[in-house]
Amino acid sequence: MVNFSLSVEETAIREMAHAFAEKEIRPIVAKREWIHDAAQRFPWDIVEKGSNQGFRTMTVPREFGGPEASMITVALVLEELAWGDLGVATIFHSTMNKVRRMARLASEEQKRWFFPRLMQENRYLLAGAVSEPAHGSDFFIAPEKVRFDTTAKRDGKEWVLNGTKHFITNGSVASLYLVTATDTASPQNSRVIILVPKDTHGVRVERVNEKISQRFSDNAEISFIDCRVPVENELGTPASRRSEVAQFTMETSTMAAAMMLGVARAAYESALSFAKEKTQSGKRIIEHQAVGMMLAEMATNIESMRTMVLRSAWEADQQSPNFTIGAMTKYHVAESSFKVCTKALETFGGSGIMLELPIQKYLRDSLSAFHFDGTQQATLLRITNALI
Ligand SMILES: Cc1cc2nc3c(=O)[nH]c(=O)nc-3n(C[C@H](O)[C@H](O)[C@H](O)COP(=O)(O)OP(=O)(O)OC[C@H]3O[C@@H](n4cnc5c(N)ncnc54)[C@H](O)[C@@H]3O)c2cc1C
Repeated sequence: MVNFSLSVEETAIREMAHAFAEKEIRPIVAKREWIHDAAQRFPWDIVEKGSNQGFRTMTVPREFGGPEASMITVALVLEELAWGDLGVATIFHSTMNKVRRMARLASEEQKRWFFPRLMQENRYLLAGAVSEPAHGSDFFIAPEKVRFDTTAKRDGKEWVLNGTKHFITNGSVASLYLVTATDTASPQNSRVIILVPKDTHGVRVERVNEKISQRFSDNAEISFIDCRVPVENELGTPASRRSEVAQFTMETSTMAAAMMLGVARAAYESALSFAKEKTQSGKRIIEHQAVGMMLAEMATNIESMRTMVLRSAWEADQQSPNFTIGAMTKYHVAESSFKVCTKALETFGGSGIMLELPIQKYLRDSLSAFHFDGTQQATLLRITNALI
């Protein structure tokens, strides 16, 4: 049976996330978005407050003290956090999705080491280090053919990592990296995921990237130079990683889409209230049919985005999901989010590009949708492969 209503708990947590975005996130955005130094700009205060609200750990399994939130709940929360600010939402998202991966792939010993730290330390963030200068889209399109330049070599009781990962979210602020590398001993040069604590000797943050979009999220290039960790730090086995990857990808696509929906909604709401107040030719601009139609189109797009996000989250919650829906959702929401933000900016006329109003920021943030969780072209190729 189809049911589009949210439960009492889902509604309550969505309202809590909305209140947090409104009271805590939005006020810092205008003041701090253009702080020159990325380290000073990084909103540790918001990370701590959001942790106190339980956002950072909402995907932690119950046996380790978390609420083990469903993907529907996660999507609702991320939409609201991104309505506040995409960069802030990304900081939490990048931890939430890897927590789910840890819950599925980590050994009992790894879980006993990891979850208490995550629960106790308000600043404990995760980063997934996959992309490299020569490997970006190929991993999304045909992962089985990719041979990462970053290598993991077994040496006695240790893994030794060498290589460089770039564009890594939470790269300079995470406490733990999930590093995807080529296992040099494997006959097919297959991949391993290695858990690398940030303070491991040989981990070096090479640079923190400046970007026009999601300015509050940290994005860095990280080198691993003869970086040694115990063999026990391998996450999962070849078989468990193979069977988990589709679920992980589905969840990440859904979360990315939920955040882009939040950005689009923020832009639309802003444009709607502006159009109801601003007058031109003696009437409110919303009463000019051309403007009214832009708003109608934005509202329609937002409804279709939300329907796809919730469908995708629901599929992910079923554990045997229709994976293609995740990619389709991400693709559709990315296109729509950019469209909504562009139309919203047009509604503002010349004011649209003024830094004092947030509308230009929404359009900048919507650009992130074009690489989040793979480029649009890579996403379409994933869908094409499924069709084939
Ligand atoms: C803000 C930000 C945060 C990120 N966070 C992370 C992170 O946390 N962890 C991580 O590992 N990575 C992260 N990334 C990297 C991101 O996943 C990649 O940028 C993305 O996958 C695209 O790879 P690329 O930049 O190398 O572009 P490329 O793959 O070089 O693509 C360039 C262009 O070529 C097209 N193209 C490439 N190959 C093909 C093909 N075979 N067929 C058709 N078209 C093709 C692409 O669609 C695109 O238009 C992040 C990137 C950014 C910008």
